[in-house]
Amino acid sequence: MGYPRWRMESRYLIRTFGCQMNEHDSEGVAGMLRAGGMTPTDDVGKARVIVLNTCAIRENADNKLYGNLGHLKPVKEANPHLRIVVAGCLAQKDQGRIQERAPWVDVVVGTHALPHLLELLRLSEEEGPLMDVREHTEVFPSAFPPARDDAFRAWVSIAPGCDNSCTFCIVPLVRGPQRSRPVGDILAEVQGLARDGVVEVTLLGQNVNTYGRDVSVPGSPRRPLFAELLRQVGAVDGIRRVRFTSPHPHDFTPDVIEAMAVTPSVCEHIHFPLQSGSDAVLKAMNRSYRRDRYLAWLDRIREAIPGIGVSTDLIVGFPGETERDFLDTLDATRHARFDSAYLFQYSPRPGTRAAAFPGQVPKEVVQERFDRLVGLQESISLDNARAQIGEEFEVLVEGEGKKGPAIRSRTRTNRIVHLPDPLEPGTFVRARVMAAAPHHLTGETLRAPAAV
Ligand code: SF4
Repeated sequence: MGYPRWRMESRYLIRTFGCQMNEHDSEGVAGMLRAGGMTPTDDVGKARVIVLNTCAIRENADNKLYGNLGHLKPVKEANPHLRIVVAGCLAQKDQGRIQERAPWVDVVVGTHALPHLLELLRLSEEEGPLMDVREHTEVFPSAFPPARDDAFRAWVSIAPGCDNSCTFCIVPLVRGPQRSRPVGDILAEVQGLARDGVVEVTLLGQNVNTYGRDVSVPGSPRRPLFAELLRQVGAVDGIRRVRFTSPHPHDFTPDVIEAMAVTPSVCEHIHFPLQSGSDAVLKAMNRSYRRDRYLAWLDRIREAIPGIGVSTDLIVGFPGETERDFLDTLDATRHARFDSAYLFQYSPRPGTRAAAFPGQVPKEVVQERFDRLVGLQESISLDNARAQIGEEFEVLVEGEGKKGPAIRSRTRTNRIVHLPDPLEPGTFVRARVMAAAPHHLTGETLRAPAAV
């Protein structure tokens, strides 16, 4: 792609905070730096370029960033040639404040300017510290050759940005409105991945259901195209598993359920963010569905795709949340019987509408409610996991487990299965579940692995 060769044979180090979108952006950054002639390192002392790819959503994002920058100050003093880059959502949000607080940062690059990082690094060598937080770019980060950690699975960005305005969320501010990639570009990327040996893709968007709503199709009105995209990606030769994240319950449509049900490679798993079980809180969050509608969707999805794994996001202690509202969340959780849930304690994010709402819930109350919700969800997760004992699944081997000698693999329903055998990552095997814990299963391998 004609990148400038920037500092041949020097090393880069990337630290990523935040969500899968950020992880995917970091793969793009790594790909760019490799295209610029650099190689990765884990050693801060050997790095010529250090990129902190930041998140503005998660708790303590600021503390994490400035803590990291504090540690890097003496490193920069000892090695003035080191280039320190702050990228991502917090860069987009905090802009000039970052270099005011940490003048040893060389480049601040926002979410839209990431594709220009090599050029910015080169310019900073000549001109000193600089910042690019442009509001819009037509170049998708995934247009760059990403450097992925796994050879067999990949994220594919389909529609960065978001047109919603959930009152707790900073994403629309830092990533801008939704920009759907053309179907042909996405398919070409997936076909290329399949040729490279990738067998599983995860389609990424802030609100995948509305994919295509911002694209003009000659001769037809603008409309969501996600169901069609799922079918087409699912038909790409060599791709055995298709996942996606995340759909918004408000925009969910029956054609997506149908596409999931009839496309063999689309996995039986859905991440379906509820956020709260209280209608009053959903309204205050500007989430335009209500609890009963959400639960009805879940019933329809489970009816059409038996055995589907379901995960969700829930926020505890949103401003104005009463004990009654919280009990509604517990009740909805009992009804929904999620297999897993990302549970968050609400804390105000500067720049969001909810940060200025009255009725902020005291921290100790948030903590106490959070603990109750964790206890309930853990018991549901364990019950659901125990129901899998004795079942057989096709699993994809991902690599070594975090603890002990077990190998980590994953079912199509997104359950982690630990296996005792030494198996190659990227291999499909059949496994039988022998034991269950809330967050993983333990199994035995039934059939010799077939290399992918
Ligand atoms: S749908 Fe809501 S929570 Fe999700 S990215 Fe958009 S604004 Fe944020």
